[in-house]
Amino acid sequence: MTYATILLQIGWKNMADVDDNPENIATCRQFCGPCPSFSFNGLNKLPPKMLFCARGASEKPKDQIKDKGCFCPGCDIFKKYDLSGGWFCIYAKEGRK
Ligand code: SF4
Ligand code: SF4
Repeated sequence: MTYATILLQIGWKNMADVDDNPENIATCRQFCGPCPSFSFNGLNKLPPKMLFCARGASEKPKDQIKDKGCFCPGCDIFKKYDLSGGWFCIYAKEGRK
């Protein structure tokens, strides 16, 4: 039995990358949109603007983003893609550890 087979049998799975598509942008808008960290830090003014779990962290420097909480755990995409961590605008696709 290979190592990969063992991992599959114990439930390990390859995490899928979040698709950058209009449907996911619309969902993100419902969660990043009202997030207090998003509005307080003006994250919509700098690329990638939203969908940070797919596009990576904001171009706003990490040490200039004030953490006011994260709505990602309530987002349908977070559940659908089995994401973890959240705060993708700060910590990029890996999320907060
Ligand atoms: S998980 Fe967070 S960054 Fe990703 S779509 Fe949902 S609200 Fe946006
Ligand atoms: S990634 Fe999380 S913390 Fe950042 S704006 Fe979206 S919901 Fe808020």
